[in-house]
Amino acid sequence: MSIQTNIELVRKHIPNHVDLVCVSKFHPDEAILDAYNAGERIFGESKVQELSGKYERLPKDIVWHFIGHLQTNKVKYIVDFVQLIHGVDSFKLLSEINKNAEKAGKTINCLLQVYIAQEETKFGFSESELMEVLNSESFKSLKNIRICGLMGMATFTSNKDQIRNEFGQLKTTFDKIKLSFFANDDCFRTISMGMSDDFQIAIEQGSTMVRIGSIIFGNRTY
Ligand SMILES: *Cc1c(COP(=O)(O)O)cnc(C)c1O
Repeated sequence: MSIQTNIELVRKHIPNHVDLVCVSKFHPDEAILDAYNAGERIFGESKVQELSGKYERLPKDIVWHFIGHLQTNKVKYIVDFVQLIHGVDSFKLLSEINKNAEKAGKTINCLLQVYIAQEETKFGFSESELMEVLNSESFKSLKNIRICGLMGMATFTSNKDQIRNEFGQLKTTFDKIKLSFFANDDCFRTISMGMSDDFQIAIEQGSTMVRIGSIIFGNRTY
């Protein structure tokens, strides 16, 4: 099936209040242009070099999100154009993003990654670590980052109850953090959760942003 058809099918299951990030990592420029021509504007990439190249070559009204594990020494390559960084999982990274953003004279939108999966391989803050960071003076001194919400990934499992539970947990953490730290901050409103295999459960649990790759672009060849 064509990318356009895939998008139409996916879109049928995504309500209007939920943003779709088309995850185009490992797919060529042409695939992105197909999705672009079908009306999509938000694209997610997980490698800095790949993202920079695509940014240079593709239409400038594309909204680029970084969704991967970002290394502190690579922030400088995307700071000029990236519109949202999803997986911020340490204070060190946050402070490095802030430093680069300050140098570039701008503010960078970030989502803090929360660890919800039962998997050692996944990154993110626990809820208490999140509270600790947000309460710290060093966090409050960062003026060039904007925390737009939270991001999480469920365990890679076919157990739907477990996935539902983990996404529910992220929604609960979001509500708690919103109330305690961002009650009067309209920017803090994004819950980025849900991928090809679990986005419908994520939406049911309160996701406001889904990150979908394979069911739009097909399988990736690494
Ligand atoms: C690759 C990736 C996705 C997309 O995964 P699919 O299963 O292909 O939809 C979503 N989020 C993150 C963080 C990813 O790395």
